[in-house]
Amino acid sequence: MTTSGSSLPVSPPIRAGEALRKKLAKIGLHSEADLLVHLPLRYEDETRITPVGRALGGEAVQVEVVVHSNEVQFRPRRQMIVRAADTSGEITLRFFSFYPSQQATLSEGSRIRAFGEVRGGFFGNEMVHPRFRKVGEDEPLPGQLTPIYPTTAGLANSALQKLIGQALVAGDLSETLPEDLRRRLKLPGLARSLRFLHTPPPGTDLDTLHARNHPAWRRVKFDEVLAQQLSLRRAYLARREQGAPVLVAQEDLGARLLDRLPFALTGAQLRAMAEIADDLGQPYPMQRLLQGDVGAGKTIVAALAACQAISAGWQAAFMAPTEILAEQHYLKLKEWLEPLGVHVAWLSGSLKSKARREQLAATAAGAQLVVGTHALIQEGVDFARLGLAIVDEQHRFGVAQRLALRKKGDNPHQLMMSATPIPRTLAMSYYADLDVTVLDELPPGRTPIKTRLVADSRRQDVVGFIRKHVEEGRQAYWVCPLIEESEALQLQTAQDIYEQLSVDLPELTVGLVHGRLKADEKQAVMAAFAAGQVDVLVATTVIEVGVDVPNASLMVIEHAERFGLSQLHQLRGRVGRGQYESSCVLIYAGPLGEIARRRLKIIFEHTDGFEIARQDLQIRGPGEFVGSRQSGVPLLRYADLDMDADLVEMAREVAEDMLAGHPELAERHLRRWLGAREELLKS
Ligand code: ADP
Ligand code: MG
Repeated sequence: MTTSGSSLPVSPPIRAGEALRKKLAKIGLHSEADLLVHLPLRYEDETRITPVGRALGGEAVQVEVVVHSNEVQFRPRRQMIVRAADTSGEITLRFFSFYPSQQATLSEGSRIRAFGEVRGGFFGNEMVHPRFRKVGEDEPLPGQLTPIYPTTAGLANSALQKLIGQALVAGDLSETLPEDLRRRLKLPGLARSLRFLHTPPPGTDLDTLHARNHPAWRRVKFDEVLAQQLSLRRAYLARREQGAPVLVAQEDLGARLLDRLPFALTGAQLRAMAEIADDLGQPYPMQRLLQGDVGAGKTIVAALAACQAISAGWQAAFMAPTEILAEQHYLKLKEWLEPLGVHVAWLSGSLKSKARREQLAATAAGAQLVVGTHALIQEGVDFARLGLAIVDEQHRFGVAQRLALRKKGDNPHQLMMSATPIPRTLAMSYYADLDVTVLDELPPGRTPIKTRLVADSRRQDVVGFIRKHVEEGRQAYWVCPLIEESEALQLQTAQDIYEQLSVDLPELTVGLVHGRLKADEKQAVMAAFAAGQVDVLVATTVIEVGVDVPNASLMVIEHAERFGLSQLHQLRGRVGRGQYESSCVLIYAGPLGEIARRRLKIIFEHTDGFEIARQDLQIRGPGEFVGSRQSGVPLLRYADLDMDADLVEMAREVAEDMLAGHPELAERHLRRWLGAREELLKS
């Protein structure tokens, strides 16, 4: 479904001169409809005039004064100084940037109303950069609060106010929510809400308006969230119109794999497997996100999906964000599938050219499973018949990269995996165009991980703790601090820690792995660790995702205060994978900032990834949450996914019903709220 084919009228462009139109476009205002939903940031009270002599410092007031001098000074910096007075006293208006037209308006003898905060300056009372406007004598005061709009340089609030006022009279304020629905949701009408917010009636309380929980604000936020949900839902439905390979297994490769596994699938894994199996048999492309906490066992679910594609006669691709992780998947999948006669190919950036040519040829000739890093999506990689694209740790990839993998086939199915659990309302906004499966159960027999916080001054205790673990036959990770400013410094720190530990623990074998190592060097260290030949692995954050060594039961994280919550959770999830009691030691160095303190408290108190994510959202806000996935969120200007979670829930249901029952209204709604911005959503 595209909007271009629709017969609905497009909102008329704003009637204004070229220069003004350009400025408006800068802040996304192109049409009358855009103006109508350009809502005030706040309001100011210009219904009263305060005599200059009675204005108190620190208070925002309006004064009406006559200019008696206006000069531009250059010292200490260029500024325009306007001296003005009313009958009660004098005031200075100071501007550090100004246009010639403003200079003219503020010329000697002009009567001005200025609004701003008064403060005591060297020359007595002054206002810095007040909003002002020239008035005649006895000009009536506005009867209502003044809306202050988001704007850009050179675009006066009063100009916006005027244009919006015109749009309120001439523009399309027609209702897009069916009456019964509005009543059920207890939302006021749109026209009424917009008029109220642009021109609040006299006597409206400033605090009420600013708090944004007034019914009019709720209506606006609901509309906005609904537009987002409509748009995502439409994309979801459009996908179902596309054809895709129907992956019906011809032999039961999956069952044979299950037979050979040393464990039985959890209930959650079985459910996920069934959902995916069903999707793969549909004639439209699956786009499913498999979410499961660290260690929930997503890999085997993906492998079983691959089995279905393979036994239906198609190829599967498995892409992971780092070399270490991809390699580990490759080895694991080979171990699982090669004995069943599956050809597993391997593509990574570090392959030598001969090996690379061989793997490319195998891929083009139809190797049944191709595992790799970003190398999979490069030019020159051709699949014979790609039926299923699997992306691990999907939030580490950009939209374009995931799309590039899909493009390697003809509408292949896609399975994305993520261990970064995101809260429900966020998921509904970010992933409303996807189907989501959650692995909400960990494999049995995992012992909970004990988390300890240790001050840096007591790090020797940690060394002793490691010794004890290794004596019991276990292994440990020691993760070095993240040093964002300098990779070299980070490397140096890792090197130092490695050397210090080698000295402190002479009887143990200490290994070191970091991002600068060549791929085969990295591989050798990881293999030695996996084989139990290395007792303590010192690592930079390269091990953050996916590494799986069940015998490692101690995770030490140095300068834990520098890590984000999801990173800490991921790192901690590297242990507790076997039957051994596991610990995570967070070494921190003070003084701790407020946010760092909160993070450490959360990670100390909680082990459930979803709960951690929920709290993380409160600290960080939704912006950084899901990596680079483009989403509906940039479209939200007024609604807040955390505070307005209930609206998101409501909007999701309404969007489905509306597209089915009132497609015309849905279309009009989208037009109004998204306009050209809907392009942002395409991914
Ligand atoms: P993640 O969801 O973090 O990707 P993995 O797929 O790496 O988790 O699985 C973590 C570990 O748990 C692996 O060693 C895997 O073989 C093992 N595992 C997966 N499913 C089960 C299960 N049902 N029972 C026991 N162990 C399992
Ligand atoms: Mg994984």
